[in-house]
Amino acid sequence: MSELHHQPQTRMTQQRAVILEELRKLKTHPTADELYQIVRQRLPRISLGTVYRNLLFLTESGQISKLEIAGNTNRFDANMEPHQHVRCICCGSIADIHTPVREPAIDKLRVQGFARILRSRVEFEGVCEQCASHLANPDAAVVYYHPDKVV
Ligand SMILES: [Zn+2]
Ligand SMILES: [Zn+2]
Repeated sequence: MSELHHQPQTRMTQQRAVILEELRKLKTHPTADELYQIVRQRLPRISLGTVYRNLLFLTESGQISKLEIAGNTNRFDANMEPHQHVRCICCGSIADIHTPVREPAIDKLRVQGFARILRSRVEFEGVCEQCASHLANPDAAVVYYHPDKVV
């Protein structure tokens, strides 16, 4: 163990293993920074940049996924089962939806100017329980939400 610092390759692999292990414990779809705060308790010398680079490596090698949800860039998910996400419109927290929701059929879709449609993405928005408990009337949350006005 004392020779580990002479083996950068091994250290990198160990850092990556810790990052992956901690991400797998979470259902919160953390940002790189949130995960860094957790991982540094086990690896005090690790930097945010290292955490981020490892997350990108894990994403590119297909072990985790990087969420691409409007308003939530840079979040990561170790759950590789096919599933969808719902985002709280108040605080931005994200939860998994495991009930299969059919994506729109794209095989017969024709769009002028596009040679090919590759995929679609269904996004859900809601109000999480924590935010709802702070609202007198959770249904009124839509008041804050004006999709037409988002540029
Ligand atoms: Zn919320
Ligand atoms: Zn997820």
